[in-house]
Amino acid sequence: GTIADTLTRGVESVTGTVSGAFAEPTIRLGVTGLSGAGKTVFITALVANLLDRGRMPQLVAQAEGRILSAYLQPQPDDTIPRFDYETHLAQLTSDSPRWPEGTRAVSQLRLSLRLRPAGLLAGLQGPRKVHLDIVDYPGEWLLDLGLMDKTYGQWSDRMLTRLPHRPGGAKVAEALRAEDARAPFDESRARTLAQTYTTALHQARRAGFSDCSPGRFLLPGEMEGSPALTFAPLPPDPSAPRNSLWREMERRFEAYKRRIVKPFFRDHFARIDRQVVLVDALGAIHAGPQALEDLRATMADILTAFRPGANAFLSQIFRGKRVERILFAATKADHLHHSQHARLTAIMEALTRDARDRARFSGAETQAMAIASLRATTEATLPHKGETLDVVQGTLLDADNTRGKQAAFHPGALPDDPARLLAPAREGAETWLDEDYAIMRFAPARLSLKPGEGPPHIRLDRAAQFLFGDRL
Ligand code: GDP
Repeated sequence: GTIADTLTRGVESVTGTVSGAFAEPTIRLGVTGLSGAGKTVFITALVANLLDRGRMPQLVAQAEGRILSAYLQPQPDDTIPRFDYETHLAQLTSDSPRWPEGTRAVSQLRLSLRLRPAGLLAGLQGPRKVHLDIVDYPGEWLLDLGLMDKTYGQWSDRMLTRLPHRPGGAKVAEALRAEDARAPFDESRARTLAQTYTTALHQARRAGFSDCSPGRFLLPGEMEGSPALTFAPLPPDPSAPRNSLWREMERRFEAYKRRIVKPFFRDHFARIDRQVVLVDALGAIHAGPQALEDLRATMADILTAFRPGANAFLSQIFRGKRVERILFAATKADHLHHSQHARLTAIMEALTRDARDRARFSGAETQAMAIASLRATTEATLPHKGETLDVVQGTLLDADNTRGKQAAFHPGALPDDPARLLAPAREGAETWLDEDYAIMRFAPARLSLKPGEGPPHIRLDRAAQFLFGDRL
């Protein structure tokens, strides 16, 4: 379908400029971010707010009253799972609202908008239609791009060097290094090594580390248990004999690249027009300087994916097409009083600065923002030791994921200068958000779309305006 796609795109852009009346343009919006960043909640809230259209004042087409209707349609791609909007929404809107299960694999949803044309054309033309195809996929999968230009030996070397610096990683690295890579290949041995390595990746991830490749070891999708997912880094040994553990692992690493990474980039990634990259910056800040430095490095890795010129493999699959706009959004901003939001945005800008500069060179427009897809808190200012304290109030999640008690929190402050946070992790580095943040696990506020009940999100409408408002 790539040739057909290119043709359709061509036709769309021609008719789009010539008449606009007959074309039904499609915007493919990619939503990504590492596990737990907030993709599922973002998409559910975005779609709910667009379908309802009561709460999006910063979306210009909405403010101008030009969105006549919005509805979900069967998506055009028959083989991609559909984003389970209805189940997620039902959980968030039930009497005891629960957070939905997060993204595990790629999925898609088509939302169609019927619009009254803007400006002078308004009187001359009838309504037109725009399709928004939302594509949800794990950010972990983008990290695999870094494998495409590496040999198994290079990758092994890198991971075995990094592993010891992570909680529990030293023992695993030692065990892998001690492995006899020249021994004859043995499936159960391979399985044990892959499992040991995967456990170490999960542990690193839980401790806030982000560079955890291969991405599918954390989120395997439908490939779980296949040989292409059953390998581990071993001490490089270029002279290992045929049929040795090393040779078979090397073969599997190459199969992983060819059969898993490449098709994902070709079939999903290369077709995206607009992209939002969600980042749980607050979580990493709270986890401490090392986790934050790791997030910064990982963001830089992830974001090379948006710079096709930098990588021969990417240039080949993009073939001149490019992602036009990229939004970097720090999620869960409702954990902070709004007086801290500008600082969070500045941190997000600093975290992604390199990547944004580079994206700009390859023609994409970028922006950084602090958002909350679903606001779970309200704000208050309370007296505290003779002064006042800005707090957020919300309902805590109990251990069994039910709603616990209402409480007010002060998560601690963010620095006014992002450099104080992002300075390379060093001995005695400052920590931030070290007050109440650790216990701030809020239950979702019941997602309500009734007018006059206070905004259920923070800047979701601004995010929408940047991402696709210009095309409405
Ligand atoms: P995914 O793995 O990227 O799909 O992440 P999810 O969308 O499942 O979000 C992970 C968790 O982050 C959720 O279960 C919530 O606990 C939290 N979360 C996501 N968005 C928000 C938000 O806007 N506000 C708050 N308070 N928590 C959020």
